[in-house]
Amino acid sequence: SKGTSAPAPPPVSAFASEPKPAATTTFESLGLSAPLISALGSINISRPTEIQSACIQAIMSGRDCIGGAKTGSGKTLAFALPIVERIARDPFGVWAAVLTPTRELAYQLTEQFLAVGRPLGLTTITIVGGMDSIQQAKELAARPHIIVATPGRLCDLIRSDGLQSGKLGRVRTLVLDEADRLLTPTFAPDLSFLFSQIPPNRQTCLFTATVSDAIMELANKPPGPGKQKPFVYRV
Ligand code: ADP
Ligand code: MG
Repeated sequence: SKGTSAPAPPPVSAFASEPKPAATTTFESLGLSAPLISALGSINISRPTEIQSACIQAIMSGRDCIGGAKTGSGKTLAFALPIVERIARDPFGVWAAVLTPTRELAYQLTEQFLAVGRPLGLTTITIVGGMDSIQQAKELAARPHIIVATPGRLCDLIRSDGLQSGKLGRVRTLVLDEADRLLTPTFAPDLSFLFSQIPPNRQTCLFTATVSDAIMELANKPPGPGKQKPFVYRV
């Protein structure tokens, strides 16, 4: 504590299976409303993790956000809570699409969105390959508040319909979960199609365990007209 040597790094396993609660913040002080805090209570979540404590207000304010922290640090609720809070306040306002590389991750994301969003009356659907696409097209046409999807199937559903622009035209927040795995050549054509279907004034949030060069490039890109640079949290 003489200030000359760097502090010892935390043990690597600290976040692996148990999210570490942030010592000083509460969900209330981050601006979440009582019904959402009570939904969290019903799944035994009472204190924000560090990434949640850092990112919730920035995302709630509409700012773009980049969140980098290891697996198990609570990234999902870091974006799901501010999204749910904003939609609950204005159900005709902030519709969201969350993209993720695999079906399994999509179902895990949906589960967390349902746990905190359903008690507040929000609808969440999952659009992934391998499942009945006619059923998914119906669910998409019913205009859910939150769409959790793998890129390929979402592209297929939007392309298969002549009236493309209606489908994602209301999306105001786009999340790329596991962004490092999405921002690769494999997903590039699907992602650029999906970006073209979402209004350009959207809020964009990238969450990842690994902050790749592609992600830092996006973080350092000059912000568009009238926009702030993204809020960046990285541990
Ligand atoms: P990541 O995306 O960073 O790998 P997740 O968002 O999937 O991590 O969260 C990992 C686990 O931690 C999940 O089971 C989730 O329910 C739990 N969790 C998230 N936030 C909290 C919290 N504030 N308190 C306790 N558990 C939490
Ligand atoms: Mg995750």
